[in-house]
Amino acid sequence: MNINYQKHLERLIQELTQKGQTPSLLLHSCCAPCSSYVLEYLSDYFNITIFYYNPNIYPEVEYIRRALEQKTLIKSITAKNKIEFIEGGYDPERFYSIAAGLEQEKEGGERCFKCYALRLKEAAIIASENKFNYFTTTLSISPHKNANKINQIGEELYEKYGVKYLFSDFKKKNGYKRSIELSKEYNLYRQDYCGCIFCKKD
Ligand code: SF4
Repeated sequence: MNINYQKHLERLIQELTQKGQTPSLLLHSCCAPCSSYVLEYLSDYFNITIFYYNPNIYPEVEYIRRALEQKTLIKSITAKNKIEFIEGGYDPERFYSIAAGLEQEKEGGERCFKCYALRLKEAAIIASENKFNYFTTTLSISPHKNANKINQIGEELYEKYGVKYLFSDFKKKNGYKRSIELSKEYNLYRQDYCGCIFCKKD
């Protein structure tokens, strides 16, 4: 069943606004361009901490470049509430262990589902340990990413770790298009592949 996660998010934002609440949100981010629209959209309603955890990225120099770009964007973007930053460890062996046997999968297949789950699980753990009100990810902004699967993983992690998952589909409402505009505006480095060695080869 296809659920409209954007509508879900809009209802929640309306509720929070009516109550005058600004909850904390741990926002897993894959890169600065994908986070640009999400930060522009959500920073009026949440106190956001970006969580950059992406052991899937190959090679390491690319991982570092995306991390630096993420920090630069946080410093320069206009936001009502201050945006914090946490970087997870770069542990590519964790990615290779979940991708084992799935190396030949096309982008958008089973390897990607495991890759979403790996990064979201780490976000759920950090959110739980640091008592965030919500956690979510920028991943759904990409037209190549399966928002249903991402939200389903988020819901399972909520049940396991007790931190509410912020249901979302950031590609809706022209989110992806806006992220391209913002990338130009902030002169962001936009990579031409998702992240791992397997999709880089494709
Ligand atoms: S294509 Fe992207 S989402 Fe899929 S496994 Fe590679 S890095 Fe992860």
